[in-house]
Amino acid sequence: MDGHEDREPLTVDGAQGEGGGQVLRSSLALSLVTGRPFHIHRIRARRRKPGLLRQHLTAVRAAAEVSGATVEGDALRSPELRFAPGPVRAGDYGFAVGSAGSTMLVLQTVLWPLLLAPGRSRLTLEGGTHNPMAPPFDFVERCLLPLLHAMGAHVQVELRRAGFYPAGGGELVVEIDGGHPLRPLERLQRGAIAETFARAQVSSLPVSIARRELEVVHARLGWSRQWLKTERVSSLGPGNVLMLELRHDGGTTLVTGFGEKGVSAEEVAVRTVEEAERFIAAGVPVCEHLADQLLVPLALAGGGSFRTMEPSLHTRTNAELVQRWLPVSITLHDEGGGAWRVDVGPR
Ligand code: AMP
Repeated sequence: MDGHEDREPLTVDGAQGEGGGQVLRSSLALSLVTGRPFHIHRIRARRRKPGLLRQHLTAVRAAAEVSGATVEGDALRSPELRFAPGPVRAGDYGFAVGSAGSTMLVLQTVLWPLLLAPGRSRLTLEGGTHNPMAPPFDFVERCLLPLLHAMGAHVQVELRRAGFYPAGGGELVVEIDGGHPLRPLERLQRGAIAETFARAQVSSLPVSIARRELEVVHARLGWSRQWLKTERVSSLGPGNVLMLELRHDGGTTLVTGFGEKGVSAEEVAVRTVEEAERFIAAGVPVCEHLADQLLVPLALAGGGSFRTMEPSLHTRTNAELVQRWLPVSITLHDEGGGAWRVDVGPR
């Protein structure tokens, strides 16, 4: 994007609002797109392990590599960072998180700049692909990408190997044909849920875990057994994820839950089912997680509107941050009955 006159570094408080990695990732992405340097301090200051963790550091290094940026403070646990980007260059890049940290969050950092930079890019990402507290690979593939395609983006993802916490070791390839402008997007209507599927995956764990999760899905949501699938996936270490997929006029929604030590398969499934029930009851097309992830692309497209559930702190914080970086206004309007409308437009 051109035309950001102000080349003074933007100062970002890393602990603002939700105060997590997203404040850093959105700033990196928007710095690359606008060419404006920034200084972020108090990075993840209120977290149990504050500062830059391996996954955040990989995002910083990725952003630096695609743009030849000058960086200060890019060390593990660093509470602050100065980042001055160069021009974003399409190319062949490999980024390894080096732990089970989420590759999807690294992708969230460099995807937007590379979509806008002319030329083809190919990213090989290694680390976690199915992490709690991050978009799982399937979420990016099935929920986010179709919307980006509707906005005119040319991007494909391919999972080579799943990576679960704590072993990691996953790998995916992302192909981007950049330089196509993003178009505004509208997702206001959901309509009826037309199709539902559930997949319960296990890696190096008994398949009975997946079966027990799907039993809960069948009992609680009444979904036909025909559309419930157990899947064994091969990965470096153990892992379990339950994915509930809902198709509707507004696209595809994927609600996921992860198996955890000390939590029964039934409990994992009940939590996931309850999240799906909240989404279904709200009657909106965009889930809570997709809402925060759509703000950067809509702002880069210069506009868009969607209906979603009550905005999370991630969404509110990202909305404030995006408005500091780009000349857009983002409004969150409570329409009642659990439905909210988000409008992004020129300021
Ligand atoms: P942060 O906590 O700041 O590192 O940001 C986490 C990101 O992961 C946000 O964009 C969330 O919307 C996203 N996220 C967390 N959980 C899920 C989930 N179950 N499905 C999809 N996205 C998620």
